[in-house]
Amino acid sequence: EKMSSAEAIALEDKYGAHNYHPLPVVLNRGEGVYVWDVEGKKYYDFLSAYSAVNQGHCHPKIVGAMVEQAQTLTLTSRAFYNDKLGVYEKYVTEYFGFDKVLPMNTGAEAVETALKICRKWAYEKKGINENEAQIIVCDGNFHGRTTTIISFSNDENARKNFGPYTAGFISIPYDDIDALEKAVNSSKNIAGFLVEPIQGEAGVYTPSEDFIKKAKAICEANNVLFIADEVQTGIARTGSLLAVCGNCSCENKCEKQATYTQPDILILGKALSGGAYPVSAVLANDAIMNVIKPGQHGSTFGGNPVAAAVAMAALDVVSDENLAQNARKLGNIFREEIGNYIKTSTIATLVRGKGLLNAIVINDTEESETAWNICMRLAEKGLLAKPTHGNIIRFAPPLVMTEAQLKDCIAIIIGTLKEFEK
Ligand code: PMP
Repeated sequence: EKMSSAEAIALEDKYGAHNYHPLPVVLNRGEGVYVWDVEGKKYYDFLSAYSAVNQGHCHPKIVGAMVEQAQTLTLTSRAFYNDKLGVYEKYVTEYFGFDKVLPMNTGAEAVETALKICRKWAYEKKGINENEAQIIVCDGNFHGRTTTIISFSNDENARKNFGPYTAGFISIPYDDIDALEKAVNSSKNIAGFLVEPIQGEAGVYTPSEDFIKKAKAICEANNVLFIADEVQTGIARTGSLLAVCGNCSCENKCEKQATYTQPDILILGKALSGGAYPVSAVLANDAIMNVIKPGQHGSTFGGNPVAAAVAMAALDVVSDENLAQNARKLGNIFREEIGNYIKTSTIATLVRGKGLLNAIVINDTEESETAWNICMRLAEKGLLAKPTHGNIIRFAPPLVMTEAQLKDCIAIIIGTLKEFEK
């Protein structure tokens, strides 16, 4: 029997923990850049499940790989080998240019994994005394919701009353190369620098052009691991395969051109599966990854054959459909056209971002509901976006969008913003 939006919302409200504040839209179908609600209304998806559905909803190649594998073998755990995992591990390490991968499921798990690898490396390879390693992080960071990760969050709402917290983190301002240099030199116990190449949840903050390159150079000079969290920025989202590719626009396998910065540890999630299945990964070279020995880390589901099949198909789609190039082209159009409108707007003050990870800042106080109300109105007009928080709205559609569809969406967005002008 068909369920109404009101019934579905009432069920979630009554039986589900209230750990999210969703827009009151109930979806039951997706295809490409579109999703439909239970009443049959069609929307452009401009969130892509926080940048997970880069390849578009229900991509036939990804769904096909998933179904085929699901009909054959879904899970054995890592107590045994399976015939898909090694094939995927070869594929994903060659795709991104690392010796080894450690397969996980969610972004936060992969970040935890990277932190554990970094600490163990610091004790075993760098000679830091046990329990004394420090990892540098950035103000405004978002890396997930586990207890260790929220220990170094500045988001009071995400952190308060969940202590005691994990020690061993130093926070510096984002995009501040001098602060990084100072922090790296502040102690002999610095093990790593964990950074988002563009801060997504904070409100899509793109650092200075050379920040990533300089940060890696400082880390390298001081034997500190440069750890890139590309859970949100990776997989073609920002107009290159990875945000650490800089302005290198090679479509698929990064050719390590001049603009590329190789992280010591790379963290991927979300669009690694095209949003079809929880798949995350940590990539590193042997000298680092080999500190992990049997029994020291793992997960029942990590590296399962369905995840392996789905991720390979999802990465094939990124290459085959030139998604990085498309994200770059459409992103430039988005920022140019929204930017032109903003010149004379009284409601929007700024558009920023890279590729198809963008944000529009609303001319209002952080606490006001205007950004939320704009998103409600956008939904009425058939476009789904959400504030990251406060007065910042993120715009991150699937990367399979066409230029004509984007133009249609820009018209909806500008038309809606105009309704809110004072
Ligand atoms: N790192 C970054 C940069 C993210 O944006 C996110 C999710 N928004 C995460 C980690 C956590 O991923 P997950 O929700 O899959 O745990």
